This record gives sequence, C-alpha cells and structure tokens, in this order.
Amino acid sequence: MPIIPEVLDYLDELSDIRHDIHAHPELGFTEERTGDLVARKLAEYGVEVHRGLAQTGVVGTIRRGNSLRAIGLRADMDCLPMQELNEFAHRSQYDGKMHGCGHDGHTTMLLGAARYLAATRNFDGTVHFIFQPGEEGYGGGRVMVQEGLFEKFPCDAVFAMHNKPGIPIGNMAVRAGPMLAASDRFDIHVKTNGGHAAHPHLGTDPFVIGAQIVMALQTIVSRNVDPVDSAVVSIGFMRGGSAYNVIPDDLHIGGTVRSFRPQVRDLIERRLHEVARGTAALHGAEAETDFRRGYPPTINHATEAGFAADVAAEICGDAHVDRNVAPSLGGEDFSYMLQARPGAMLWLGNGPGEGGCLLHNARYDFNDSALPVGVSFFARLAERFLAAEQ
Ligand SMILES: [Zn+2]
Ligand SMILES: [Zn+2]
Repeated sequence: MPIIPEVLDYLDELSDIRHDIHAHPELGFTEERTGDLVARKLAEYGVEVHRGLAQTGVVGTIRRGNSLRAIGLRADMDCLPMQELNEFAHRSQYDGKMHGCGHDGHTTMLLGAARYLAATRNFDGTVHFIFQPGEEGYGGGRVMVQEGLFEKFPCDAVFAMHNKPGIPIGNMAVRAGPMLAASDRFDIHVKTNGGHAAHPHLGTDPFVIGAQIVMALQTIVSRNVDPVDSAVVSIGFMRGGSAYNVIPDDLHIGGTVRSFRPQVRDLIERRLHEVARGTAALHGAEAETDFRRGYPPTINHATEAGFAADVAAEICGDAHVDRNVAPSLGGEDFSYMLQARPGAMLWLGNGPGEGGCLLHNARYDFNDSALPVGVSFFARLAERFLAAEQ
C-alpha cells in the first residue's frame, strides 16, 4: 500500500528536478537559482508562492476548506563548500560546491508533495511548504523564524526529514525528545609573561597551563555531567610558540562542545569558563574564554513524533519504522523551528552508504529510490494532520 500511487506517475519529473538541483548547487543565502526553480514549480502546480523571507527562502501555501488548522513541511536548499568527486552526469557543475548532504533531495521531495497535495486537495485546512536557505552553518532556519515565519504563516505543527545513509531505503526513524545535538564552539587564550626557555622560573609557561586545562576540561563530562546524559568536549587545536628556546606569552586552544539537554549545555558552558580561568589562576596566569552557541539541540515533541511515526508506518510498514532511534551528535537548524512550534524531524533511509555515499562525503549522492517514500510521507502527513472532521 505504502507509496501513494499518483506519486509514481511523476517520478521521472522529480528525479530530473533533483538532478538539476544537484548539478547547480548553491551555498547558504545564495540559493537564487534553486529558489527560482522552486517558485516556478510551485506556481506551475497551482500553489501560492511567497518569496524573500531570509533572503532566498520560499514558502508555498495551499488552503482548502474552512478549518483553521495548518501544518508546516520544511526542506533545506543549500549545498556544502566542498569538491564533488562523483562522475555521473548530474555531478556538480560548480567547482568547490556540492550537494553533499542531500538537500537537493529534500527540496525535491517537498516539491513532489506540493504537486500531489495541490492536485488532490484531500484535506481541510492549510499546508505551508517551507523551503529554507542556509542550513549548513548559516542558521537560515533561525533567520526565517526571526523574520516572522510563523506569524506570516501560522502552523500548528512543523515537520522535516533528513536523509540518512546507513538506514535502508523504505525505512524511517524518529524518536521523541532530543534527536540531534546542540553544536557550540569555544576559544581559550592562555595569557602569560613568557620568557627564555632556559629560565622558566622567571616567567609563566602557557604550555604547562594549557596542558592542564585540556586535561581538566575532560572532567566536565566525566565528573560534572550526569552520567545518564551524553555530551562531548573535544579540543580541535592548540596553537602557540615559534621557537625551540622561547616560552611564548599566549596559547590559543579551540574546540567544540556537543550536548542534548539545555541544562547540560548551560552546565558545560559555565564549567568551561571556570575550569580554564581557575586552572590559569592556579599558576598566576589568566585565561580569556569565549563560548559561542551554535544550533540548539533538535528536540522532537512527543505527540508530533508519535503522529509522524504512525504516518511513516502507514507508508513504510510497521517493521520499517524505528520509533526510538538513538540520537545523533550532529546538529540541525530545524531546531529553531522546533523551539517555535511543536513538531518533529525524521530520518529517511538513503541506503547502505557504500562507496563513500555518506553525508558530507565527496562521493555522496541522494538516492532517488527514496524520493517516492519521502514524497508519500510528506503528503500523507499533511492529509492525516488536516483530516476533515468525520
Ligand atoms: Zn549537512
Ligand atoms: Zn543536511
């Protein structure tokens, strides 16, 4: 039963759209061509089109009936700044840009759902198709929310999918609660009065202090965070010094922090400042710390995650839907939309991930076999959410 039969009628058109977007990847907030294509297709399908939100964002709207209920379905449109190594015909035409995360597929599936829902209109209420720019580090989702996405296009709930290599085609996965992690960055500058390496007692040594800071930071996860919570504090680099016989006066340490619960994130931020500054003070030096919050954790709302899992089961079959998948330490800016409205993000199986077909890999490609599954899921989700009163 699963796949919606009408969707199979225009699969060729959808894979053409997907290949066209893949061949012409655009970075965050420069999705002009992609936005044009999305707007043109929506208009062709009879969907009302709104442009300009978060610069290149596009929102399509279909209304039917009298119900005030509304659902938001979201896809991302941007690519990654990386060189594609695939050689198939639809490989990237632009050096240094690649759809290495499958946003070409996400955009295409949402267009497919818009086409189906505009033609059939078998619901009572409003569907907003949200095509956001700049997911890959640009926070396009945050900008859309800040620019009034949900005031201009009120939604009772909002949903998104991300393809996932390693999950077989025709399978989906979701969980209530934290789905993806918060992703933050920090810098620590250890400030000392350096000196001659042969006379360390005449100065203070940022390397000895920095080494202690790195070790002490590891106690945040092992000794401060509740053992039942997951978190990571990783050092990405330590930079300092220029000569064999000079103790420098500055050491720069940088890294990333991942966490799921807001309380854990607050705790790590506070402890990072305390540990770095306190360790430096122990040695009569100073540490300047800077903690920059990136995307918040992507936290699925329980009711909407359960509802989405039921719809996924209708499309894929119960045995092919994991309702309690392990969370990922990756990050997602759909998190900002889930802070503003109830909703859920799901994984859509992209196949085994063979031959380097992994997210952010130079040999990745979205799997066209997943298109009918994703289109059917988005479409049924809207129909079920806006089901006419019996
Ligand atoms: Zn990505
Ligand atoms: Zn992505």
